[in-house]
Amino acid sequence: MNLTLFHFYSDQLNLYGDRGNVIALKKRAEWRGITLDVVDVKAASAVDLTKADVLLIGGGPDRLQALCTDDLRGIKGEFKQAIDDGVSALTIGGGYQLLGEYYELPDGKKLQGLGVLDFYTHSPSSGPRERLIGNILLESPRFGRIAGFENHGGRTYHDYETLGDVVAGHGNNGKDKKEGLLYNNLIGTYLHGPVLPKNPALTDFLLEAAWKRKTGNPLPPYEQNELENAANRHLWDVHEKKV
Ligand code: GLN
Repeated sequence: MNLTLFHFYSDQLNLYGDRGNVIALKKRAEWRGITLDVVDVKAASAVDLTKADVLLIGGGPDRLQALCTDDLRGIKGEFKQAIDDGVSALTIGGGYQLLGEYYELPDGKKLQGLGVLDFYTHSPSSGPRERLIGNILLESPRFGRIAGFENHGGRTYHDYETLGDVVAGHGNNGKDKKEGLLYNNLIGTYLHGPVLPKNPALTDFLLEAAWKRKTGNPLPPYEQNELENAANRHLWDVHEKKV
């Protein structure tokens, strides 16, 4: 049996190689004998979300984020339904922000989100307005050590479970030392880089949830190689000054 990934706006929302997440998902599925079919979604109205096992939305600059949010608005009910039904989803940066109630732009204008989840993102109107940029490391109770790169102006606030605790870097808002959001089988995060090749545990979480939902079975095992974790380990080693 195959899995189907819907990749939204791959040309517009592809900050810092977010598209690389597709390759990671495809490979880790293939190593288990599963084919991941990728549907490149350019217009939300053209797709039937009930056919998707995994959803992926990357990040992008504000202008493109606004255009893509408007396009997605047409299927926000279906999108919410899919997330509530437990479809796997990875949403990054702008793709994460647009799931909330609104994203307040640096000029104070509010870009209405899809309202799939109950949270908001502000851009500071006074005080330090700098973007939150750099490598970022998280300790995640569910996934262990996570590594990535962030670059965002928006500061996100919510009461959901988070992806992890910030060990180095800024995270959701630069204040509460939390990063990302977990809800059902959805991961929202500011981590680019792309995030999945550096974090096989996240890749496998998305695949496992999709596979279980579709077949009722756990992911088939395969012989793991320690090189799969090399990028993650290297970033942590640099942080701990082991290299
Ligand atoms: N445009 C948004 C911001 O600057 C998201 C950027 C991103 O995807 N990292 O906050």
